Amino acid sequence: MRPARALIDLQALRHNYQLAREVTGAKALAVIKADAYGHGAVRCAQALQEQADGFAVACIEEALQLREAGIGGPILLLEGFFEADELALIEQQDLWCVVHSLWQLELIERSAVRKPLTVWLKLDSGMHRVGLHPADYQAAYRRLLASGKVAKIVLMSHFARADELDCPRSTEQLAVFEQARQGLVAEVSLRNSPAVLGWPQVPSDWVRPGIMLYGASPFEQAQALAARLQPVMTLESKIISVRELPADEPVGYGARFVTERPTRVGVVAMGYADGYPRHAPTGTPVLIDGRPSRLIGRVSMDMLCVDLSDLPGTGLGSRVELWGKQILASDVATRAGTIPYQLFCNLRRVPLLYCEA
Ligand SMILES: *Cc1c(COP(=O)(O)O)cnc(C)c1O
Repeated sequence: MRPARALIDLQALRHNYQLAREVTGAKALAVIKADAYGHGAVRCAQALQEQADGFAVACIEEALQLREAGIGGPILLLEGFFEADELALIEQQDLWCVVHSLWQLELIERSAVRKPLTVWLKLDSGMHRVGLHPADYQAAYRRLLASGKVAKIVLMSHFARADELDCPRSTEQLAVFEQARQGLVAEVSLRNSPAVLGWPQVPSDWVRPGIMLYGASPFEQAQALAARLQPVMTLESKIISVRELPADEPVGYGARFVTERPTRVGVVAMGYADGYPRHAPTGTPVLIDGRPSRLIGRVSMDMLCVDLSDLPGTGLGSRVELWGKQILASDVATRAGTIPYQLFCNLRRVPLLYCEA
């Protein structure tokens, strides 16, 4: 079998979830949208089920996949519904539903729902993506309650720049939220991963950790709480070919790397078709049999090359960690001009292997 694979450490996942709860003292919805950021939503939900206060996904398709796998308890649809006919399923499957726009509110009012819904009413406090305008917020809250279709409302908003710890924008968004919700007696939910770790002053009955569950820091710089996260995914493969090249020889497509000295090149069974970023440049860190080395040349679809020159004893069959406990996905992401979220979500073709420890 091809040796490329992703190991998923479920114990680390539980540790990271527990950290989110511990540092906030809040209830936490484990955000497992997009197949748990590539980690496998069903297996992650099963691993967290005993502990978790609930789960959050992007859409009803993702929620139904969890229900079909036997996941009970709260599941929040972070974008609510897209079409009116989803409401019957939301009711039947007992899903929680974000309302981020007036058209959704109107559809709830006109729906035939009999068992009142739990709605998370989203405010646009300054991100300007989705969410109700502050001027409409209180009226929307009252209309939902008056509709008879809603039993409970949680007040929510989302930060645009919580990963920037010195940026005043989150404090401004919080002030807009506080103003808009004045006088409403309801639970609140504002904090995603960077706000869980970096913004202790933000009130929360419910937090919504995503990326931190998978052990990647949402911050670019070091941060004390983020240092306690444990990476969940190890993307690994093996060396399948080795060659000794003299100086001045090109390696890979486009000759993007030319040997500066006699170089021992290892070829790894891993490429951009597996989700390893094609834009990772020469110098991106890799780990070979536990020792640090670097990517060289262009990443191709199924293979990439690494430098074995300074690693005597390594060669055919050596184990290569592309990211995991030693090589942080955030570091690889930074080199490739992206974020760990995207690296995880882009994972494909490689089998996911789950381990408890
Ligand atoms: C995806 C998402 C989250 C989780 O964000 P992270 O940065 O991964 O923690 C939280 N809230 C909402 C509304 C989301 O869409």
